[in-house]
Amino acid sequence: NSIVNASASESERAVEAALRPRKLTDFIGQPKVCEQLELVLTAAQNRGVSPDHVLLAGPPGLGKTTLSMIIAAELGASLRLTSGPAIQHAGDLAAILSSLQEGDVLFIDEIHRLARTAEEMLYLAMEDFRVDVIVGKGPGATSIPLTLPPFTVVGATTRSGLLPAPLRDRFGFTAHLEYYDAAELQKVVERSARLLETEIDVEAAAEIAGRSRGTPRIANRLLRRVVDFAQVHGNGVVDRAAAQAALTLFEVDPEGLDRLDRAVLETLCTRFNGGPVGLTTLAITVGEEPETVETVAEPYLVREGFVIRTTRGRAATRKAWEHLGLIPPDNGMF
Ligand code: ADP
Repeated sequence: NSIVNASASESERAVEAALRPRKLTDFIGQPKVCEQLELVLTAAQNRGVSPDHVLLAGPPGLGKTTLSMIIAAELGASLRLTSGPAIQHAGDLAAILSSLQEGDVLFIDEIHRLARTAEEMLYLAMEDFRVDVIVGKGPGATSIPLTLPPFTVVGATTRSGLLPAPLRDRFGFTAHLEYYDAAELQKVVERSARLLETEIDVEAAAEIAGRSRGTPRIANRLLRRVVDFAQVHGNGVVDRAAAQAALTLFEVDPEGLDRLDRAVLETLCTRFNGGPVGLTTLAITVGEEPETVETVAEPYLVREGFVIRTTRGRAATRKAWEHLGLIPPDNGMF
């Protein structure tokens, strides 16, 4: 798994817990989302009711889980965490729903991956605070309607377009999280360094921020490697030289590209004269599965304008040539 992958492994989640902001005022960036949430939460609290269900939409690593925890904390409510893939059967969801207490916050990560039957049960519960619990099996099974206390669902999804409309409509409020800019990521790095009790200078924080692909999770991960490096090879103080040396060691370049990203660009430019070339040919030449190139490397390369997708395949942009220190060909592409 690449160091610049925006998703977290189970073991990383434990390390991350220590770095999560716990209050809305400590949450860096996403000013619109924070202001909207603040309003929704305060209004509900003033009325003494549970707030509307909230959908958090955006790429991995931008703070959806963190925000769900903040929502519960701001409401003084207890938080239950689950995820779409963890709920295999409607019965799993029924068990969770029927154990909720008044005012609880139920966080459902990757809500677009809920099983169909669970999805239907969920929107009934969200709308009417009702769930039908099936007791027994086979022809003797009976359905017992159960009234639920008011609670708030916080759903998280990387693909809000994949949510069926009836489920999407049950959310009173959808927050769209955006990639962080360099200044915001620098603040994330500085804050995390403080929590890790590490001294870091401004240039080093900027260096890490610039390579973090707009994603706090990646910023924190790069910071941990840089701190390791400074402790092993230096006096523990993180300066720009330590940051650069550590990130070179882990093959994260100044634009945040890793080994695979660069291999894709190099292959495109040097083997195919910039393309366009079909995904399969490109992937075979790089020595990877087409799916890996398409889902792991390509999204960031396209987002940052290194690669464009055309009907005839993938092509390198001028930015790609220049990033590799190569001269773009004079073939009318640019
Ligand atoms: P998601 O659920 O969207 O994948 P998480 O909420 O798990 O993302 O955040 C990933 C990591 O990034 C966590 O360690 C969290 O502390 C950090 N993080 C995310 N957003 C912020 C932020 N706005 N300020 C500070 N740290 C953040």
